[in-house]
Amino acid sequence: MAVAEVLFVVAGLFIGLAFQGGMLLFLIPFAVVAFVLACLNRPRLAGPSSTGSLPMIIKGRATGAIPEVAPDLRSEFRNSNGMANEPEAALKVSQVWARANADINRAMTDMLLALKSVVPHVNSALVFTQFDNPREWGVRNFVNDKEISVNPSARISETSGLLSQLFRSGVTRLLEGDLPGAKSLQYYVDSTPIKSVVAVPLVDHGSGIRVGAVVLDSTYPNAFNDMTARALSFVASAISMLDYKGFYSAQKHIALQQYSGLYNYLRKFFKTMSVKDIYKEIINYVKANMAYDRLTILALDKDEEMNGRVVFCDGVDSEQFLNKRFTLSDKGIFVLSIMRNRPIERSFAPGFKDYVPRLNDSEKRNLNLRQIFVMPIAAKHDAEMAEIAICLESSSPMPYNDHEKELLKAFASVAGFAYDRACKFEQGCEQAMRDGHTGLINKKTMFEKLRAEKSRADRNQYSIGVLMMDIDHFKSVNDTYGHPIGDVVIKGIADTISKEIRGDIDIVARFGGEEFVVALIDTDAEGMVETAERIRKSVQKLVFDVHQAEPLRVTVSIGAFLLSPGFNGDLQKAVNNADQALYRAKEGGRNQVVQFQATEPEPAAV
Ligand code: GH3
Ligand code: MG
Ligand code: MG
Repeated sequence: MAVAEVLFVVAGLFIGLAFQGGMLLFLIPFAVVAFVLACLNRPRLAGPSSTGSLPMIIKGRATGAIPEVAPDLRSEFRNSNGMANEPEAALKVSQVWARANADINRAMTDMLLALKSVVPHVNSALVFTQFDNPREWGVRNFVNDKEISVNPSARISETSGLLSQLFRSGVTRLLEGDLPGAKSLQYYVDSTPIKSVVAVPLVDHGSGIRVGAVVLDSTYPNAFNDMTARALSFVASAISMLDYKGFYSAQKHIALQQYSGLYNYLRKFFKTMSVKDIYKEIINYVKANMAYDRLTILALDKDEEMNGRVVFCDGVDSEQFLNKRFTLSDKGIFVLSIMRNRPIERSFAPGFKDYVPRLNDSEKRNLNLRQIFVMPIAAKHDAEMAEIAICLESSSPMPYNDHEKELLKAFASVAGFAYDRACKFEQGCEQAMRDGHTGLINKKTMFEKLRAEKSRADRNQYSIGVLMMDIDHFKSVNDTYGHPIGDVVIKGIADTISKEIRGDIDIVARFGGEEFVVALIDTDAEGMVETAERIRKSVQKLVFDVHQAEPLRVTVSIGAFLLSPGFNGDLQKAVNNADQALYRAKEGGRNQVVQFQATEPEPAAV
């Protein structure tokens, strides 16, 4: 029949177009209408229906191009379990999924409407699908003249009612034309006088498992025939295809979103060279992407290998972990992950009474936290020990799924690389800032720090005492005892100066060979000279054992200049002034403190 053939071609075209991409899913209803019309126009189709395998529009399953994501997104909604944080990523996932669901449902409704308009005498057209229980199907969509009579929360179970037959693997359709009413159908609220029903199972396109049914009913007796059942099978195939396609395009979308999220962090990481910012980004990422009831981030101290600290804790009892210190000999599961540089996972049953220590034995215990997933971050991925651990805990009965773990693992390797890079950079900076022998900052760093201090001092109107000191007759120390002993003396004096000033406020630098500059923050002339004297006396008391009859003693001369807010010269000038005073101290016989005295008025600033 010409009409039927044309319609088949049209249907084929539409379906072909629909499979070009997820965006064209809306064509499926048109294809189905064309198909149904074609079927109804083909008398040859009206024979006994073929039994056995269920019809499917496309047999092959599209694989390969689909990125691997969690097998079921519905299970990813951890927040329905009431976890402490609501990660942005989960919200995005739920939005994508809700949108896909709405699209699928709309297309499904269109199909049902098309069916209802094509098949005569239909009272309701319904789609049932699995919800939470595989032994039960619920109403997913329906179109109906009197909508009120269908119970949207009705369930078809494996064990009761007419439609339960569709759960059985041999049954490919159900066709009844002489029903006593709607009772045996179980999805009407009232006793609608239903006489006929035709139903086919809905088969999951991916797995081939029965996951629901498509049903038409009518108040007319013998309203449907084999042909209707056959057409309904095609509709069921199309619906299953629609669900499958919609589901996977949503998954694809989500996977893309998550991997592009990772890529964004990769970019962020490579813009920062600071370890502190790397910590911050790690915290941001985990908060935005992982659901948890408690998140704890541990980091080893950079200089002390055996110790570490909780750098971040959020959620249940977080205050008891935050900033807590630990050592690698502590027997906690978080610590273990760092020590072994291996992810650790634990699930506890609800009644599980034995607490597994997280940091150590003395911590407050919480038996409600049932899932633990610890992801270590190591500077080098094959390192024996990690530097950081991301510790996730939740009270959910569901363990963290493979997809979540894979994503976090990918993130951890990127973070580890970035962390290593930042550490090395900071080490390099530190080395460039300091003098290797004394550990004091160098001249360049002294000027940088002094500049910052000077502007703060100007804002707050206080003075900075600048001391310039030089070891007396140091040449002869070198000449008499040798250069190595000279070095010991320099180190001894550096340590002595550091002890005599306020370590966290004042600044001391090795300015040159055996010269030191000290900046005394927020002081006056009197205080400045007093401190200088204290340093001078301490140096004088120093005794260096040089394995000779007489121990070695040295002295220093100190020039002092008070850098007050009104000073109108640059920092170099201030240091020169202190140096000038030092020169006077040397002239005056050494081992003394001399304060700078302006001999002539300072030239006005240009
Ligand atoms: P003065 O009291 O006038 O300062 O006499 P001085 O001998 O200390 O003279 P000056 O400050 O000019 O001497 C600097 C000497 O310090 C020259 C150099 O050999 C020595 N020196 C500089 N840097 C180092 C160092 O890193 N180690 C050692 N051992 N000696 C150094
Ligand atoms: Mg000198
Ligand atoms: Mg000297």
